[in-house]
Amino acid sequence: MNDNLQVMKFGGTSLGDAECIRRAADIVARATRDGLVVAVVSAMGGVTNRLIQAAHASALGDLDAVSGLTAKLRQEHQAAIENLVSNADQRVQLAAELDQIVEEVTSLCRGTALLRELTPRTLDAISSAGERFSARLLASALRESGFNAEAVEATEVIVTDNHSGRAEPMIPETRERATARLAPLLAKRSIPVVTGFIGATVDGRLTTLGRGGSDYSATILGAALDANEIIIWTDVDGVLTVDPKLVPEARTLREISYNEAAELAYFGAKILHPKTLRPVSEAGIPVWIRNSFSPERSGTKITATGHPTRRGVKAITAMTNVTLITVGGRGIVGLPGVAAKTFTAAANAGTNVLLISQSSSGNDICFIVDSGDSARTIAELRAAFALDLAHKEVEHITVNPDIAIVAVVGDRMRGTPGIAGRTFSALGHRGINIIAIAQGSSEYNLSLVIEARLMRDVVQALHSEFGLERRASRFESVESERALAGVY
Ligand code: ASP
Ligand code: MG
Repeated sequence: MNDNLQVMKFGGTSLGDAECIRRAADIVARATRDGLVVAVVSAMGGVTNRLIQAAHASALGDLDAVSGLTAKLRQEHQAAIENLVSNADQRVQLAAELDQIVEEVTSLCRGTALLRELTPRTLDAISSAGERFSARLLASALRESGFNAEAVEATEVIVTDNHSGRAEPMIPETRERATARLAPLLAKRSIPVVTGFIGATVDGRLTTLGRGGSDYSATILGAALDANEIIIWTDVDGVLTVDPKLVPEARTLREISYNEAAELAYFGAKILHPKTLRPVSEAGIPVWIRNSFSPERSGTKITATGHPTRRGVKAITAMTNVTLITVGGRGIVGLPGVAAKTFTAAANAGTNVLLISQSSSGNDICFIVDSGDSARTIAELRAAFALDLAHKEVEHITVNPDIAIVAVVGDRMRGTPGIAGRTFSALGHRGINIIAIAQGSSEYNLSLVIEARLMRDVVQALHSEFGLERRASRFESVESERALAGVY
């Protein structure tokens, strides 16, 4: 659409109060000096949680709780309006729009309370109110500093299927609607501020993209509008080599690949909604993670190649609140269908399996699930294997909740020999026992299962083993090495 378009998304903490919203407006305003900007917003921090709470309270008939929650929402947003908007007419106008949205939420909650039933569709309508407020607030803050800006409802621009609560975008339709709605605004130099998290079906019914989905909104729009780049403004400096709470020497990575970012988003770091990179990786549109509280820092850039280093490893992640489930017994050697039965049971329990490992002797199959899913999974497994347990073909189904997954992540681990060896000896030297191991054939994630109490030691040991506290030196960078060799 335009060579010079940035899509900028602001998360809930980056829009936490009037001051944060003003800071976000400054960031957008500055970027418009160099080109066009489409802003995408989350709800103000904590607002979506409160809306969802109100929805569930109304399903229980607790309208007192609902009015407490909506009063708080009104008051928070009203305070932001008073703080941000100096023009009296504008204030009145915004307050009226706020009232109208609160009124809609209240009547949806009343309807829910009457029926004592919260439908997924109603939950979508209630939980999306926060973005409708925050888009109006950021647009007003921009107007306050003399820019043209307009709040745009994503129901007009992002087309999705009809899965309430986890809708998937339809890119060609989105491309068409987004261009039709946003191009005229950009042409007259008005900054669109689009509600994140929200979409609508082809016939206009509101949907949401899942919790944390406004990251996804930003990349959907970026892809649909052929943006130059997408910037996710948040409250951390970017993607770090490790959780700084575990290792104080953690460093912000300058550049990582889509694969690495997806791995890190999934395992531990949780910086991005897991689907965020899907719309942009094919088109190769770079995505930045930057800190709206320190906009002078450059953040992390996510690209196709991700600035590979010869060191191979880019980051270490850790995941707790996970449970190891083992299905085992000598009888399962050669017993066909055990794996199929195990994972069918897990699927029937609605469980997301995080890691799988089986030894070649086939004595047991172990896998890891979120601890919250473990009881349900075990119940399904016991039912599925009831006969095999009775006949002692399967001897045990065991559960170990005191574990953690630590993963070593990096694109260049593929084909870099010795990384597994170094990982194991670093832990071996410290007398740390590894319970299970998994490496996908993609080779950019080597995952270890260890006792939870050892997690900090393991993460520290691996971070220092691979020298992640230092920037990769000139000679460690694959690109500079090729450049030195005259390859390009
Ligand atoms: N406000 C939504 C949520 O809290 C979407 C987002 O923040 O990305 O899940
Ligand atoms: Mg988020």
